[in-house]
Amino acid sequence: MPLPKRRHSSTRQAKRRTHYKLDAPSVSTCTNCGETRRSYQICANCGYYSGRIWFTPKPAKETAEAA
Ligand SMILES: [Zn+2]
Repeated sequence: MPLPKRRHSSTRQAKRRTHYKLDAPSVSTCTNCGETRRSYQICANCGYYSGRIWFTPKPAKETAEAA
């Protein structure tokens, strides 16, 4: 088993970790309804993807509006 010869300093560790970051999810616009949606995913608003309907979205629940 290879072993590191020297311990890495906390500065070196911190410098490496500057590259660990989250990036915002890629978003595009639905061609059917114009809502923003996640790229390569079915539109949550109208259920369209790739020119055809994949599911019919249910109408908004009244309980969600009351809460
Ligand atoms: Zn849509």
